[in-house]
Amino acid sequence: MGFPVHRMRRLRRNETLRRMVRETALTPDDFIYPLFVQPGEGVREEIPSMPGNYRLSIDKLIEECEEVRSLGIPAVILFGIPEKKDSQGSEGVSDEGIIQRAVRAVKESVRDLVVITDVCFCEYTDHGHCGCVIDNDVDNDTTLEWLAKMAVSHARAGADMVAPSDMMDGRVAAIRRALDENGYSHIPIMSYAAKFASAYYGPFRDAADSAPQFGDRRSYQMDPANGNEAIREVELDIEEGADIVMVKPALAYLDIIRRVKDRFGLPVAAYNVSGEFAMIKAAGRLGWIDEDRVMMETLLSIKRAGADLILTYFAKDAAKMLQVL
Ligand SMILES: [Zn+2]
Repeated sequence: MGFPVHRMRRLRRNETLRRMVRETALTPDDFIYPLFVQPGEGVREEIPSMPGNYRLSIDKLIEECEEVRSLGIPAVILFGIPEKKDSQGSEGVSDEGIIQRAVRAVKESVRDLVVITDVCFCEYTDHGHCGCVIDNDVDNDTTLEWLAKMAVSHARAGADMVAPSDMMDGRVAAIRRALDENGYSHIPIMSYAAKFASAYYGPFRDAADSAPQFGDRRSYQMDPANGNEAIREVELDIEEGADIVMVKPALAYLDIIRRVKDRFGLPVAAYNVSGEFAMIKAAGRLGWIDEDRVMMETLLSIKRAGADLILTYFAKDAAKMLQVL
């Protein structure tokens, strides 16, 4: 029986009714805030294509983390910009590296904030690729050894969770084994399971200074056209021991998020990447869209698609909006 018995507008008549039947709600608990840390003191340098986001020295990072916690955001993910880069990405595995020092400092002063570390080499290598380059290609199995070492050094510094973003085959298993052997069997792995070779990463590469110096990342990151392959990537990471699986980017890949959630049921994270952020910021600045409303609608769409966790540069802005609502 259709119209006039069924009138969908009855439950949309006022805000209270709409609130009662609302299916998806954002909370600050959904957010993970990405932060960039660099050497120095008193450094708080805004990233031009990512307004409101900064490269921070460790002292400023701590202030930022205190604010993040005060807004009710439970976690940050840290990306490091090292003192110097080399072909081996040496600073990435050093206990005195920028990330290792940053993790120790944050855990000391903002204890209840969950600190996640990005495990990858593109920020640390002079060639800007995500691992060990042999004959102009990233060598998978040597990179696994590097990644395992990096993850252990992050855990040793006090990281609560590690997040490999390199897309090498077998990295979750390699990292899991290394963590377990070194007494970190309690440290979860959030894997960038389906990470696509996307043009939406542009502003991040300015922020982390990690654009590849030759070629691109298409020989390890996924082809944006492939949904079934994404499911297979996620399945393999789960078999290898991933605790949380991530889809990256989020917005152009909402169908993948939904499929992963329906199929596996594990906690799913989605990375609302720098290009997605920059587009909304830019259009907002031009007065072409209502930035706050588009931000909240975008984050809501990612959660509705099935994401339990959203890595987003909007985390602070959105958390502030949620306090007011
Ligand atoms: Zn990388």
